[in-house]
Amino acid sequence: MRDVIILGSGCAGNTAAIYTGRANLKPLVVMGHEPGGQLSITTEVENFPGFPDGEMGPVLVENMKKQAERFGAEFRYGTVVEADLSKRPFRLSIDGEWVECRTLIVATGASARWLGLESEQKLIGHGVSSCATCDGFFYRDKEIMVVGGGDSAMEEANFLTRFGRQVTLVHRRDSFRASKIMIERVQANPKIKILLNTVVDEVEDVAAKSVTGVKLRNLVTGETWHQPVDGFFVAIGHIPNTKPFVGQLDLDEDGYIISHGGARTNIRGVFHAGDVQDRIYRQAITASGAGCMAAIEAERFLEAEGH
Ligand code: NDP
Repeated sequence: MRDVIILGSGCAGNTAAIYTGRANLKPLVVMGHEPGGQLSITTEVENFPGFPDGEMGPVLVENMKKQAERFGAEFRYGTVVEADLSKRPFRLSIDGEWVECRTLIVATGASARWLGLESEQKLIGHGVSSCATCDGFFYRDKEIMVVGGGDSAMEEANFLTRFGRQVTLVHRRDSFRASKIMIERVQANPKIKILLNTVVDEVEDVAAKSVTGVKLRNLVTGETWHQPVDGFFVAIGHIPNTKPFVGQLDLDEDGYIISHGGARTNIRGVFHAGDVQDRIYRQAITASGAGCMAAIEAERFLEAEGH
């Protein structure tokens, strides 16, 4: 029986582990299917306060883990596949093995949705990114491409014009699903070129371990062509990792946890932290802040219950 189990080992989970570790609660961190979270698939992080020269994402998140381990946090590989939050202690199946806890911090994140091309996957962190705020800066005066037709794609395309020479926005249909005001901003931006009814067939160049261009195809005419590109941003949505909690935790229509104030969920003793609840900010620092909040709430909850 654990006082605290933390699900997820990104910034939110690791920060919650540092705080609950220092509170002597000996947290167990279940690392999830993407150990280290979103930072583990980025390159340099320049906007995490305290690192004037920047730091590599995987190093930053590994350091957070080491820091938590120093205070007694235990990390284990695995993913929660089933959960019973109907009564306390809460019960969780980690790949089939059941564990119990008094409080639970859900920091399972939201995974970026990718196109699913093999070349795209191989070039993540080498020119392929799912986060303009994180990586836009690296493409000063470069050719940038953004894929997607929702608000994220509009926002990222606009944001990236601060850096890039030109931003090409590629969308698979003939109309955007983004809000009108966001579409108008994109249309009015002289640095953005829009390609509708167009899909990406391949990101090049896997052999060079760097993005140099893409193969595009027009779905109406069937025409295919090559376009040189330096930065390739995929903005086709995120998938919150909340599957084991469906029907137990209050989730919105897209599966994100609905907060009941602070870090609280609808179930007493279950707290949320990071991107699994946050569809707006999605930053390393905001996730860390949320992990801290969840840890403090878990500590106070246990204390009030006399543990
Ligand atoms: P959305 O689900 O709204 O949009 C995803 C887009 O990606 C759609 O245009 C979709 O195309 C496209 N897409 C999905 N899968 C593929 C694929 N395999 N290949 C090519 N294209 C694909 O996600 P967002 O992240 O844009 O937004 C999520 C939510 O967050 C929304 O509610 C949005 O309003 C909100 N948001 C608000 C912001 C703001 O107000 N400032 C900023 C960012 C997000 P199709 O249209 O054809 O389905």
